[in-house]
Amino acid sequence: MEDIYFDHAATTPMLEEVIKAMKPFYNQVFANPASSHLQGQKAASALEDARESVAEFIGAKNAEEVVFTSGGTEADNLALKGAAMAFSKKGKHIITSQIEHHAVLKSCEYLKKHLGFEITYLGVDQNGFVDPAELKEAVREDTVLISIMLANNEIGTIQPIKELASVARENNILFHTDAVQAAGQLKIDVNDLGVDLLSVSAHKFNGPKGIGALFVRKGVELIPQLSGGSQERKRRAGTANPAAAVGMARAAEIALKNLKKKSSKLNKLRGYFISQLFSTFDNIKLNGPDSEKRLPANINIAFKDLDAESILFNLTLNDIAAATGSACASGSLSVSHVLKAINLEKEYLKGAIRFSLGRGNTKEEIDYVMEKLKEIIDRLNSLK
Ligand code: PLP
Repeated sequence: MEDIYFDHAATTPMLEEVIKAMKPFYNQVFANPASSHLQGQKAASALEDARESVAEFIGAKNAEEVVFTSGGTEADNLALKGAAMAFSKKGKHIITSQIEHHAVLKSCEYLKKHLGFEITYLGVDQNGFVDPAELKEAVREDTVLISIMLANNEIGTIQPIKELASVARENNILFHTDAVQAAGQLKIDVNDLGVDLLSVSAHKFNGPKGIGALFVRKGVELIPQLSGGSQERKRRAGTANPAAAVGMARAAEIALKNLKKKSSKLNKLRGYFISQLFSTFDNIKLNGPDSEKRLPANINIAFKDLDAESILFNLTLNDIAAATGSACASGSLSVSHVLKAINLEKEYLKGAIRFSLGRGNTKEEIDYVMEKLKEIIDRLNSLK
């Protein structure tokens, strides 16, 4: 077997239908959607249709609440910095969690360093859950924003966002959620969740890279983070990218249509993968919850007293793609902030591998990975 890909949390392949939908927007309907001529209007109309589809994908009633960005990172930056700056006269306190993606954590650090915000980082339990009661206690008079991710990219924990957002609402505080990993695996409904701001990224659900969206609830004020033209209703300057927006929309439509089927397939594959791991190996730990409160595609397994980089290197030699903890953390020598936050025992901390499933994966591939992984782990253990 070759090219076995278990790294869908890092990115996913684009679907043929998505590529096909995008193509005309490169050289046929290529005009700038801000131009008033007919060609420009055609591009603008495609952009607005795409906005409608993305709105439907996240349950937004009003397409104007969708702001296209260059991806999840920009959506998180715009949410955090844009809202904090807009509400800084009211207060300068933000609450987030210790296990957020760096796009959120580093935006918080920026606000602290350059604009004098205070940040409270909520801890999590051993499965990665934030406790709504702790959030309630952390709320202060000057809290202007709460940002807690919908699902974690490393260990797959799905947070009780509805409960957390209701704490924000009761206290008249804005609530942002990073739904970048959840989108395409879980049904997202901004109104049911009760959030004011929500980030998604197309390349995580078989759409193109370089495009994402931020849901901004009607009436929520944001200070734009890019200076320039008045695109995206003055919330995000820069010439719009209709091809990417159309691609994102097509991917969102397909994801929405196939959501139940895909989630149930991934759930079954994940169950099989995990059961095979535990019947093949001793001294392993599953990081993150073992329940329906885990992203269907996520498996994060820690091997005792082994080094994840060595395991990964050997998997790569066998043409198997996975990740250590998270793609964003791999390549850096530091231990994952998420695994530290769940208090993973020292002997497991450096040996965590994330396998993330996608539409193309099969049981046969899992069997193959298990066979190779057994050889690798036995060899690494014998070298100790
Ligand atoms: N937030 C989460 C939870 C992610 O997993 C990622 C990407 O890995 C991002 C944000 C960043 O998204 P993008 O790659 O589109 O910038």
